[in-house]
Amino acid sequence: MIVFSKVDEISLFLDEKRSKGAKIGFVPTMGALHPGHVSLIQISKSENEITVCSIFVNPTQFTDQSDLEKYPRTLESDKIILNEALCDVLFVPEVKEMYPFGDPMKKEDYNFGELENVMEGKFRPGHFKGVALVVDKLFRIINPTSAYFGEKDFQQLAIIRQMSRERYSSIDIIGCETIREKDGLAMSSRNTLLSSVERKEAVLISEAMHKMKREKNELSVDDLKKTAYEFLAKSEYIKPEYIEIVNFSDLKPITHWEENSQARVCIAARVGNVRLIDNMFI
Ligand code: AMP
Repeated sequence: MIVFSKVDEISLFLDEKRSKGAKIGFVPTMGALHPGHVSLIQISKSENEITVCSIFVNPTQFTDQSDLEKYPRTLESDKIILNEALCDVLFVPEVKEMYPFGDPMKKEDYNFGELENVMEGKFRPGHFKGVALVVDKLFRIINPTSAYFGEKDFQQLAIIRQMSRERYSSIDIIGCETIREKDGLAMSSRNTLLSSVERKEAVLISEAMHKMKREKNELSVDDLKKTAYEFLAKSEYIKPEYIEIVNFSDLKPITHWEENSQARVCIAARVGNVRLIDNMFI
């Protein structure tokens, strides 16, 4: 695997590959890699000649300074994981490389309307503008054929699809299924921050979603959400921030069931001090 930290150097390298007709797959991450990330690398490898992974803990998408500071950083073991996954290129820029002095690109230039105000947007205002800014910059640098994102971050995937439709219509955005631990907890870099008792309790989030799926036909949308809140309230460690049932394509809230409702439940909850999100078709 070739490792780059400078924009000019990786651009030059990829320009040459592209000029020879190579398809470039891109997997942006914030590191602390786990099998969920590796699954994206594998899908990219199966569809492209060159797979590029980036590791960059993007400060502009954090709305809470302490969350940014405590975000796990494990570059050396990440490199081992990427080498084992046969990733071709790693891009690991410093903050000043991505956000140089006098940079004209700003968070405020992105507007996703309602899509950025619901769910995560309500609890992390400005978060998606920061995500869009960094993905926009990375897309300019990498100029991939396809880019791979996890459905685990369902709203983020919708935001990136919209940003790409407007600015990068030639890049294929590929949504990839959520990889879970054996007990059902969605894999996340943040899981490493859970204490052992919090880790055990965290499984209730995916259990709540499975329960909703089972009970969907018997309850109204409101009652289904209410029973999910009650289910999570059984744990003193879990504090849900939201449980929303939304339309799978535009993320608009579903208020009553209709035939063919393509409903997705999205949950954000604090488990101790760690904020986790997950979602599932129900
Ligand atoms: P992150 O490093 O958390 O920013 O995630 C980088 C990419 O990996 C994003 O597209 C995530 O949606 C995706 N991802 C994170 N966790 C998982 C998972 N458990 N399964 C599949 N993809 C994931």
